[in-house]
Amino acid sequence: MMIEGQHRLILIGPQGSGKGTQAELLSVYLQVPTISTGQLCRSEIAHGTELGKQIENFVKNGELVPDEIITAMLKKRISDYDAQDGFIIDGFPRTVAQAEEAQSWLHPTKVIVLEINDRVAVQRMTSRRACTQCRFKTTAEYVAKHGDECPRCFGKIIQRQDDLPEAIQKRLDMYHLVTQPVIEFYKKTDEMERFNGALSIPLVFMEIAHVL
Ligand code: ADP
Repeated sequence: MMIEGQHRLILIGPQGSGKGTQAELLSVYLQVPTISTGQLCRSEIAHGTELGKQIENFVKNGELVPDEIITAMLKKRISDYDAQDGFIIDGFPRTVAQAEEAQSWLHPTKVIVLEINDRVAVQRMTSRRACTQCRFKTTAEYVAKHGDECPRCFGKIIQRQDDLPEAIQKRLDMYHLVTQPVIEFYKKTDEMERFNGALSIPLVFMEIAHVL
Protein backbone atom coordinates (compact mmCIF):
# COMPACT_ATOMS: atom_id res chain seq x y z
CA MET A 1 0.00 0.00 0.00
CA MET A 2 1.45 3.37 -0.98
CA ILE A 3 0.10 6.40 0.79
CA GLU A 4 -0.55 9.54 -1.22
CA GLY A 5 -0.61 12.97 0.36
CA GLN A 6 1.56 15.88 1.23
CA HIS A 7 2.04 15.66 4.96
CA ARG A 8 2.65 12.34 6.60
CA LEU A 9 4.14 13.34 9.92
CA ILE A 10 5.35 11.11 12.71
CA LEU A 11 5.78 12.53 16.20
CA ILE A 12 8.22 10.84 18.55
CA GLY A 13 9.00 11.83 22.11
CA PRO A 14 8.65 10.66 25.68
CA GLN A 15 5.33 10.72 27.50
CA GLY A 16 4.59 14.30 28.47
CA SER A 17 6.73 15.80 25.71
CA GLY A 18 3.65 17.39 24.17
CA LYS A 19 3.20 15.03 21.22
CA GLY A 20 -0.56 14.87 21.56
CA THR A 21 -0.90 18.63 22.00
CA GLN A 22 1.30 19.44 19.03
CA ALA A 23 -0.45 16.79 16.94
CA GLU A 24 -3.80 18.51 17.57
CA LEU A 25 -2.41 21.92 16.61
CA LEU A 26 -0.70 20.56 13.52
CA SER A 27 -3.88 18.80 12.53
CA VAL A 28 -5.77 22.10 12.42
CA TYR A 29 -2.86 23.85 10.72
CA LEU A 30 -2.38 21.24 8.00
CA GLN A 31 -6.00 20.10 7.74
CA VAL A 32 -5.11 16.44 8.12
CA PRO A 33 -6.26 14.11 10.91
CA THR A 34 -4.27 13.24 13.98
CA ILE A 35 -3.97 9.54 14.53
CA SER A 36 -2.93 8.53 18.02
CA THR A 37 -2.29 4.82 18.43
CA GLY A 38 -2.85 5.21 22.19
CA GLN A 39 -6.21 6.83 21.46
CA LEU A 40 -7.12 4.03 19.03
CA CYS A 41 -6.34 1.54 21.82
CA ARG A 42 -8.33 3.44 24.46
CA SER A 43 -11.28 3.75 22.11
CA GLU A 44 -11.38 -0.02 21.45
CA ILE A 45 -11.27 -0.59 25.21
CA ALA A 46 -13.96 1.99 25.94
CA HIS A 47 -16.26 0.39 23.36
CA GLY A 48 -15.70 -3.04 24.88
CA THR A 49 -14.77 -4.61 21.54
CA GLU A 50 -13.13 -8.02 21.22
CA LEU A 51 -9.87 -6.25 20.34
CA GLY A 52 -10.34 -3.93 23.30
CA LYS A 53 -10.55 -6.90 25.64
CA GLN A 54 -7.35 -8.35 24.18
CA ILE A 55 -5.34 -5.18 24.74
CA GLU A 56 -6.89 -3.83 27.93
CA ASN A 57 -4.33 -5.18 30.36
CA PHE A 58 -1.33 -4.04 28.32
CA VAL A 59 -2.62 -0.49 28.12
CA LYS A 60 -3.74 -0.29 31.74
CA ASN A 61 -0.35 -1.47 32.97
CA GLY A 62 1.62 0.83 30.69
CA GLU A 63 2.96 -2.06 28.62
CA LEU A 64 3.28 -2.17 24.86
CA VAL A 65 0.49 -3.73 22.87
CA PRO A 66 1.83 -6.47 20.53
CA ASP A 67 3.23 -5.08 17.26
CA GLU A 68 0.85 -6.97 14.95
CA ILE A 69 -2.21 -5.56 16.71
CA ILE A 70 -0.96 -1.97 16.64
CA THR A 71 0.18 -2.22 13.03
CA ALA A 72 -3.13 -3.67 11.87
CA MET A 73 -5.09 -0.96 13.74
CA LEU A 74 -2.98 1.82 12.27
CA LYS A 75 -3.03 0.48 8.71
CA LYS A 76 -6.79 0.29 8.87
CA ARG A 77 -7.06 3.83 10.22
CA ILE A 78 -4.80 5.42 7.61
CA SER A 79 -6.79 3.77 4.86
CA ASP A 80 -9.84 5.79 5.97
CA TYR A 81 -11.08 8.45 3.59
CA ASP A 82 -10.06 11.41 5.76
CA ALA A 83 -6.42 10.31 5.89
CA GLN A 84 -5.85 10.17 2.16
CA ASP A 85 -4.35 13.66 1.95
CA GLY A 86 -2.03 13.02 4.86
CA PHE A 87 -1.98 12.49 8.61
CA ILE A 88 -0.11 13.11 11.82
CA ILE A 89 0.77 10.05 13.80
CA ASP A 90 1.29 10.22 17.54
CA GLY A 91 2.56 7.02 19.17
CA PHE A 92 3.94 4.95 16.30
CA PRO A 93 6.48 3.53 15.63
CA ARG A 94 7.39 2.88 19.21
CA THR A 95 9.92 0.11 18.60
CA VAL A 96 12.61 -0.41 15.96
CA ALA A 97 10.74 -3.53 14.86
CA GLN A 98 7.64 -1.41 14.18
CA ALA A 99 9.73 1.20 12.32
CA GLU A 100 11.40 -1.46 10.19
CA GLU A 101 8.13 -3.15 9.34
CA ALA A 102 6.55 0.22 8.49
CA GLN A 103 9.29 1.05 5.96
CA SER A 104 7.26 -0.53 3.19
CA TRP A 105 3.99 1.34 3.82
CA LEU A 106 4.30 4.40 6.06
CA HIS A 107 6.69 6.69 4.11
CA PRO A 108 6.78 9.68 6.49
CA THR A 109 7.53 13.09 5.00
CA LYS A 110 8.83 14.30 8.38
CA VAL A 111 9.77 12.64 11.63
CA ILE A 112 9.37 15.16 14.43
CA VAL A 113 11.20 14.41 17.66
CA LEU A 114 10.21 16.24 20.85
CA GLU A 115 12.82 16.07 23.58
CA ILE A 116 12.35 16.61 27.32
CA ASN A 117 14.09 15.22 30.37
CA ASP A 118 12.53 12.68 32.72
CA ARG A 119 11.92 15.15 35.51
CA VAL A 120 9.72 17.35 33.30
CA ALA A 121 8.07 14.26 31.80
CA VAL A 122 7.07 12.87 35.21
CA GLN A 123 5.87 16.28 36.35
CA ARG A 124 3.67 16.74 33.30
CA MET A 125 2.26 13.21 33.35
CA THR A 126 1.47 13.37 37.05
CA SER A 127 -0.54 16.51 36.61
CA ARG A 128 -2.24 15.76 33.30
CA ARG A 129 -5.99 15.19 33.13
CA ALA A 130 -8.17 14.51 30.12
CA CYS A 131 -11.81 14.35 29.14
CA THR A 132 -13.24 10.87 28.72
CA GLN A 133 -15.42 11.97 25.82
CA CYS A 134 -13.53 14.49 23.72
CA ARG A 135 -9.86 15.30 23.30
CA PHE A 136 -9.76 18.11 25.83
CA LYS A 137 -6.60 17.99 27.91
CA THR A 138 -5.83 19.91 31.04
CA THR A 139 -4.01 19.74 34.38
CA ALA A 140 -4.76 18.69 37.95
CA GLU A 141 -4.53 22.37 38.91
CA TYR A 142 -7.33 23.24 36.48
CA VAL A 143 -9.59 20.51 37.91
CA ALA A 144 -8.86 21.62 41.49
CA LYS A 145 -9.97 25.12 40.54
CA HIS A 146 -12.83 24.55 38.09
CA GLY A 147 -14.11 21.03 38.81
CA ASP A 148 -14.12 17.94 36.59
CA GLU A 149 -16.69 18.97 33.98
CA CYS A 150 -15.17 19.33 30.52
CA PRO A 151 -15.55 22.94 29.32
CA ARG A 152 -15.68 21.73 25.73
CA CYS A 153 -18.21 18.89 25.74
CA PHE A 154 -19.46 18.73 29.38
CA GLY A 155 -17.99 15.23 29.70
CA LYS A 156 -16.02 14.11 32.74
CA ILE A 157 -12.35 14.98 33.19
CA ILE A 158 -10.30 12.18 34.71
CA GLN A 159 -6.74 11.01 35.25
CA ARG A 160 -5.71 8.25 32.85
CA GLN A 161 -5.16 4.91 34.56
CA ASP A 162 -1.69 4.70 33.08
CA ASP A 163 -0.83 8.15 34.45
CA LEU A 164 -0.58 6.74 37.98
CA PRO A 165 2.98 6.75 39.41
CA GLU A 166 3.88 3.10 38.86
CA ALA A 167 2.75 3.01 35.22
CA ILE A 168 4.36 6.39 34.55
CA GLN A 169 7.80 5.12 35.51
CA LYS A 170 7.28 1.92 33.54
CA ARG A 171 6.32 3.82 30.39
CA LEU A 172 9.29 6.16 30.69
CA ASP A 173 11.68 3.25 31.20
CA MET A 174 10.13 1.57 28.19
CA TYR A 175 10.55 4.76 26.18
CA HIS A 176 14.28 4.90 26.87
CA LEU A 177 14.74 1.22 26.24
CA VAL A 178 12.72 0.63 23.09
CA THR A 179 11.58 3.95 21.60
CA GLN A 180 14.76 6.01 21.80
CA PRO A 181 16.43 3.58 19.35
CA VAL A 182 13.67 4.49 16.87
CA ILE A 183 15.19 8.00 16.78
CA GLU A 184 18.54 6.45 15.84
CA PHE A 185 16.72 4.50 13.15
CA TYR A 186 15.29 7.65 11.52
CA LYS A 187 18.50 9.64 12.02
CA LYS A 188 19.83 8.01 8.89
CA THR A 189 17.05 9.64 6.91
CA ASP A 190 16.71 13.32 5.97
CA GLU A 191 13.20 13.63 7.30
CA MET A 192 14.05 13.88 10.99
CA GLU A 193 13.84 17.17 12.92
CA ARG A 194 14.42 17.58 16.67
CA PHE A 195 12.75 20.09 18.98
CA ASN A 196 12.97 21.12 22.60
CA GLY A 197 9.64 19.98 24.07
CA ALA A 198 10.26 21.87 27.32
CA LEU A 199 9.47 25.17 25.58
CA SER A 200 5.94 26.58 25.67
CA ILE A 201 3.20 25.06 23.48
CA PRO A 202 3.07 27.94 20.95
CA LEU A 203 6.85 28.16 20.71
CA VAL A 204 7.23 24.46 19.97
CA PHE A 205 4.42 24.70 17.45
CA MET A 206 6.05 27.65 15.66
CA GLU A 207 9.36 25.84 15.52
CA ILE A 208 7.72 22.79 13.96
CA ALA A 209 5.59 24.81 11.52
CA HIS A 210 8.79 26.52 10.39
CA VAL A 211 10.28 23.28 9.05
CA LEU A 212 7.15 22.01 7.30
P1 ADP B 1 1.88 7.55 26.18
O1 ADP B 1 2.71 7.96 25.00
O2 ADP B 1 1.68 8.66 27.14
O3 ADP B 1 2.32 6.28 26.84
P2 ADP B 1 -0.23 6.76 24.39
O4 ADP B 1 -1.60 7.30 24.43
O5 ADP B 1 0.63 7.07 23.21
O6 ADP B 1 0.42 7.27 25.72
O7 ADP B 1 -0.24 5.17 24.55
C1 ADP B 1 -0.94 4.54 25.58
C2 ADP B 1 -0.75 3.04 25.51
O8 ADP B 1 -1.22 2.53 24.25
C3 ADP B 1 0.69 2.56 25.58
O9 ADP B 1 1.17 2.50 26.90
C4 ADP B 1 0.56 1.18 24.93
O10 ADP B 1 -0.05 0.26 25.82
C5 ADP B 1 -0.42 1.42 23.80
N1 ADP B 1 0.28 1.80 22.55
C6 ADP B 1 0.15 2.97 21.88
N2 ADP B 1 0.92 2.99 20.77
C7 ADP B 1 1.59 1.81 20.74
C8 ADP B 1 2.54 1.23 19.86
N3 ADP B 1 2.99 1.87 18.75
N4 ADP B 1 3.00 -0.02 20.14
C9 ADP B 1 2.58 -0.67 21.22
N5 ADP B 1 1.69 -0.20 22.11
C10 ADP B 1 1.18 1.05 21.88
